[in-house]
Amino acid sequence: MEINRTIPAGVRRYLRQEAAFGCAVCGDPILEYHHIVPWEERKHHEVEHMVALCPSCHQKLGKLPRDRSYNAKANPRNRTHNRIKGELGTTAEILSFRIGSNTYINTKNIVTFFNRPILRAWIENGIAQIDAYIPLPSMWPDVLISRNDLLINTENSWDIEFRTNFLTVKKREKEIFFQVDLRKEPGTIRANFFLGDTKIQFDENSSTAGVLNYSECIFENVVTAIGIGEESKILHWPNFAMRNPKAVVFDGNA
Ligand SMILES: [Zn+2]
Repeated sequence: MEINRTIPAGVRRYLRQEAAFGCAVCGDPILEYHHIVPWEERKHHEVEHMVALCPSCHQKLGKLPRDRSYNAKANPRNRTHNRIKGELGTTAEILSFRIGSNTYINTKNIVTFFNRPILRAWIENGIAQIDAYIPLPSMWPDVLISRNDLLINTENSWDIEFRTNFLTVKKREKEIFFQVDLRKEPGTIRANFFLGDTKIQFDENSSTAGVLNYSECIFENVVTAIGIGEESKILHWPNFAMRNPKAVVFDGNA
């Protein structure tokens, strides 16, 4: 039977998981899939003879003895780091965002929590910019994006797929935890996470924040689209300087 050159999605995902979602050598999250036993020698997509590498390490390792690739495969760099870093660049001309089932035009704060921005999306000099603070139950960041620079905790992830202009984080097989797609207008964001007790779910058909549902709205020139938590209060994130790190809500006037 003829084997197709296209690497099956399940094989790619297995290799991403094996390498903890970064290049096995350097940790870069933009990945290609290297046939350690070359395709020219034997047509195969066998996970035991393949490894996830970034484009530049792929080029280098492709020319070196195979044991170098098998070593990288056995000891992927991100295994010891538990996080990936990257930059969510975009070249597409984006004017608006489709977040869940709503459209946002010139509305920077998509979600705030006690006046702290959780999700922001805006256009600056023609370039889409994203900020996100998606917390763990402890309120430490699980996904942190600051002006498109991203840091993602890999520990409890089922899959993280990162390409130019595109990011998907899944905690479970069939559920998008967080997704940004800036490949074309409108830029889209999907999410499914908890902010304290409030479940935030932005998918194709609905946009819910706790009991509130905001489907098929257009937010244009709004300061904050969805504000959760009392407006008179302000949240302080936990930080390393605290003896017992925890999130604290302050009276905004104090
Ligand atoms: Zn690399």
